Amino acid sequence: MYAPPIQRLITELGKLPGIGQRTAQRLAFHILRADAADAVALSDAIREVKEKIGFCEICFNLAEGPRCRICQDERRDPSLICVVEEPGDVIPIERTHEYRGRYHVLGGALSPIDGIDPEDLRIAELYARVDEGEVTEVVLATNPTTTGEATALHIAGALRERAPRVAVTRLASGLPVGSDLEYADEVTLGKAFAGRRAL
Ligand SMILES: [Zn+2]
Repeated sequence: MYAPPIQRLITELGKLPGIGQRTAQRLAFHILRADAADAVALSDAIREVKEKIGFCEICFNLAEGPRCRICQDERRDPSLICVVEEPGDVIPIERTHEYRGRYHVLGGALSPIDGIDPEDLRIAELYARVDEGEVTEVVLATNPTTTGEATALHIAGALRERAPRVAVTRLASGLPVGSDLEYADEVTLGKAFAGRRAL
């Protein structure tokens, strides 16, 4: 129906989350109408982010270079680690200004149905950080969803055996159940953080 280059653009846009076929077409035609400079700026931005941004070698947050800004910041308390599912979860927690420790990004949540097992996440890397001995508290800030809760319980159980002297806490209830941390407002999330409890 469309010339192959247009069809290719629609196909690629349609792979983005939340973008159906009709939206992909609308975006493609928007790009076709746009100035060449704007269209090139979009493609350059995509290329640049893939070339320059990788994962922090310590916490697996997004980083420009080997370490993320938080791991490079000497003022951040290295005895606290907040465990989240995705890099996008770090931002809302930072916005609350309740937390001055470090992070650990798992890269997802345990979900046996989807074939996501502990070895598919950065769980072993978390234990290795705890084993170094400086950590006194691990805050499990996985999403308040079935998979997020299962992940928190799995890690809490393992840490209890492996590092009994480390406090393992979970964000207080009050976060909307079943939703992602990413969408929680900062006041609710800040309260959940301040009221975290032992697991
Ligand atoms: Zn980091």
